[in-house]
Amino acid sequence: MIERTLVLVKPDGVHRQLVGEIISRFERAGLKLVGIKMFWADKEHAMKHYTEDITIRRGENVRNKLLRFLVIGPVVAICLEGIEAIEIVRKIVGDTQPKTALPGTIRGDYSHMSYAYADAKDKAIPNLIHASTTKEEAEYEIALWFKSEELHSYKLPHEDHVL
Ligand code: ADP
Ligand code: MG
Repeated sequence: MIERTLVLVKPDGVHRQLVGEIISRFERAGLKLVGIKMFWADKEHAMKHYTEDITIRRGENVRNKLLRFLVIGPVVAICLEGIEAIEIVRKIVGDTQPKTALPGTIRGDYSHMSYAYADAKDKAIPNLIHASTTKEEAEYEIALWFKSEELHSYKLPHEDHVL
């Protein structure tokens, strides 16, 4: 039941200086930081992250906008570990559309854009975070962003109260 998942603070989150705030949201829930790095992706890396799966689910236009958006600046890639971490992280992150993301979630607290506005402006929605959705996606994405030696297994002093 202990899982690892990949989070990216996307370029809007780095530009808005929300990296510390975002990491603390995960830490305070007891999720363990097992990998972290700043990385400025190029188009090729972005295409490996936002694969054809996005085209199937969201369309070619959204994928193209996303690919352009992901490379406008560096991202902070984070690997988190915890109990059913993939689902828990998605809960903390909130809905994809900031307009419907609940207050208390990262997206709900720090963004408010709607799909309609993003479409009208021909923009990728700047919603601060990427987080893996499934075990398969998490495994693929962790391997894409981290070498195995960049991930660390260690015990937290208070682990008995959290894990
Ligand atoms: P999530 O990031 O919540 O997993 P998706 O994987 O479906 O959501 O989409 C990836 C990213 O694409 C979203 O986080 C958002 O930045 C962007 N996006 C999704 N749908 C749209 C849309 N209709 N218009 C603009 N950007 C979108
Ligand atoms: Mg997704």
